[in-house]
Amino acid sequence: KNLVVAIDGYSSCGKSTLAKALAKKLGFIYIDSGAMYRAVTLYFIRNHVNVNDPEAVDYALGHIELNFHSQDYQSHITLNGEEVSEEIRQMPVSTTVSEVSANKKVRREMVKQQQRMGKSKNIVMDGRDIGTTVFPDAPVKFFMTADPKIRAERRFKELQSKGDTTTSLEDVFENLAHRDYADTTRKESPLTRADDAIILDNTDLTEAEQLDFALDMVHQ
Ligand code: C5P
Repeated sequence: KNLVVAIDGYSSCGKSTLAKALAKKLGFIYIDSGAMYRAVTLYFIRNHVNVNDPEAVDYALGHIELNFHSQDYQSHITLNGEEVSEEIRQMPVSTTVSEVSANKKVRREMVKQQQRMGKSKNIVMDGRDIGTTVFPDAPVKFFMTADPKIRAERRFKELQSKGDTTTSLEDVFENLAHRDYADTTRKESPLTRADDAIILDNTDLTEAEQLDFALDMVHQ
């Protein structure tokens, strides 16, 4: 039977870095569930979809096709055939994604698609509800945390390296705090640690140390 490794946690905790490294080492497929919510959000922004209008949301979801293209374990996602991997990381999407991802219809559709992806293949999937809702039976689950300041600094550097000169460190810090609050308090599958998830605080761990720890857990 195929294997699923679930990695959940707050925003910018290093989930995707660990998930990619783990997938590469194990020869599994990496799936970034956050990219899916971000791509849906980008579609909603571009097409002025009112997230509070159930009919509009249904209609939009019926017109969105998401696909992943793994290139060397990086997550590349297309929205209706268009490569949007860069655009979904930018601030307009980051400030709107919490509202869109709190929507019940959006979540139901994403969970359905994610479960389909994990049906026949070995995957590492990261997100907020992977170990609780998407794959509650996953044999290996991690719940990642890290110091909020370190998380903001990492995300800030990442944005700067992508040429964003208008977003300040404070903007990033506030956006992370806002998204954590929204993710943990929303009605529909809020972010919470699954009872059987292994806690991984990576504040003081190098990437190599995290990978070693995670591999040990997978091989147990
Ligand atoms: O992981 P990332 O920060 O890119 O995710 C963007 C947003 O998508 C999160 O802030 C969260 O609101 C939402 N998300 C979610 N469930 C997931 C993955 C992401 O609600 N499984």
